[in-house]
Amino acid sequence: MDLVSILIYDTTWSFVAEIILRTAIMFSMIIIFLRFTGKRGVRQLSIFELTIILSLGSIAGDPMFTEDLPIIQAIIIMSVVIGLYRLCTWFMMKYQPFENLLEGRAVYIVEDGLLVLDKIKKGKMSHDEFFAEMRTQGVEHLGQVRVGLLETDGNFSLLLFSPDDTRYGMPIFPKQYQAIEKVEPEQLYACMYCGHVTHLFDPNEICTRCDDDCENWAPAINTGIVR
Ligand SMILES: [Zn+2]
Repeated sequence: MDLVSILIYDTTWSFVAEIILRTAIMFSMIIIFLRFTGKRGVRQLSIFELTIILSLGSIAGDPMFTEDLPIIQAIIIMSVVIGLYRLCTWFMMKYQPFENLLEGRAVYIVEDGLLVLDKIKKGKMSHDEFFAEMRTQGVEHLGQVRVGLLETDGNFSLLLFSPDDTRYGMPIFPKQYQAIEKVEPEQLYACMYCGHVTHLFDPNEICTRCDDDCENWAPAINTGIVR
């Protein structure tokens, strides 16, 4: 085993030319077939869409540099994949349960300034993931959020309270999202697990909303959102 055989092995100049041609053809094919999906572009992909992209990608790769792999076979496979994609999207439009099966459902993560308990308990997404999503949209604490919906493509849709209706909520920026060590009587505190806001007597009090899951509290804040 030597470096030359690892890098070059039996590659000839004529095969290099063939690789260039094969790559150009497959590159054009990928673009054409992705246009057939009817999508305008991809920012966030659902699992179903990601499957299509992965399938097309792996089909397109090998014919670019495999000497005895006729390109027509790859094109047939890509046609079948796109055909299946179009068939599935058609069924999804007709039958809602089929869409839920392939794409999943949008999930309520926040309602009225509180995290929806059965959703966070299933642990499908860590606190920090949806905190990060909300922070990028300018949210400082949960008291600003009326509804937070996790879409099937991974986007996070928010409906906010107007500044006048903003309530006390769990802070979601790291410096404020810190467990307290002692309680001040006038201050409101937010459960760091579920967002429940209350007065406290003890810094390790058990949260009445989520029971056993949390005994950490952060100072609640009620600043109005500025956009
Ligand atoms: Zn709680």
